[in-house]
Amino acid sequence: MLTESGNLMKFGLHMPLKGGFAPNIKRAAALGCRTLQIFPGNPTAWRLPDPQPEEFAKRRRLLAEHRIDPLIIHAAYLVNMSSANELFLERSCRLMQETMERAALLGAPFVVMHVGNHGGRGFDTGMELFITTLAREMQNWPSGVSLLLENTAGGGSSLGGSFASLGHILGALGPAAPVGICLDTAHAWAAGYDFASVEGIRASMEELFDAVKMDRIGVIHANNINSPRGKHRDRHMHLREGLIPPEAFATLLSYPWPEDLPVILETPEIGSHWDEINLEALRSFARMGAAQRGGEDGKS
Ligand SMILES: [Zn+2]
Ligand SMILES: [Zn+2]
Repeated sequence: MLTESGNLMKFGLHMPLKGGFAPNIKRAAALGCRTLQIFPGNPTAWRLPDPQPEEFAKRRRLLAEHRIDPLIIHAAYLVNMSSANELFLERSCRLMQETMERAALLGAPFVVMHVGNHGGRGFDTGMELFITTLAREMQNWPSGVSLLLENTAGGGSSLGGSFASLGHILGALGPAAPVGICLDTAHAWAAGYDFASVEGIRASMEELFDAVKMDRIGVIHANNINSPRGKHRDRHMHLREGLIPPEAFATLLSYPWPEDLPVILETPEIGSHWDEINLEALRSFARMGAAQRGGEDGKS
């Protein structure tokens, strides 16, 4: 029996840095968010601010009070676990260690990280380095926190654009590794996956599930996009305003995803009136998806 994914998913957004933690949590809860994603610090800095145990305890209480669960941490953009530069690789490992520890302190079960790039040394070499680095580093991470590898827009020396590459990494790390996948719809489109129609997204999802078991997908980033498919340009758009049509989002949301799967908006102008518009769009796509599947179930 399939779960009614449209109702059991948890919707939320990437919380802006400005405005302060508490006001942002209250605002998100008032918009109906059940989950949130945050940066643990400046996303373009190599270090996190020092931990503040009392402040973190307060934040955890606030999240619980507003029934926002899970909290998701997005790692800094600088992190590249397959960097050809030894210093950058070392810094990346240190920052990921800090980020995983920070997630544990905040009670966040997921840390999202972009798959790295090989810096000109070739796909296979980069992939090998990425896997050996992760396999070594994850030994030191706190328990209870999983790393989610986010698919990238691909192109150039980027490693994580194809679903097959994500599957390869998970396979190499083995089933016990605390590592899963974060699917970003805009990145998939930029990497060349056809989300322009129901048929297109079905074929893309087939490819995804061939590479990655559904229960390894921990978070979806629901973003629309304005740049042409397969051009590796990552320009996020409001859900109803980009090149991915509502029916494609509806189909995506209609899969029997794991219960309580967090779906996060990283749409433009987060923190503005757009949040309400995009959350409403997401809910309406989920209802469309549930209706699509209801129709299919009725037929079979
Ligand atoms: Zn990301
Ligand atoms: Zn994303």
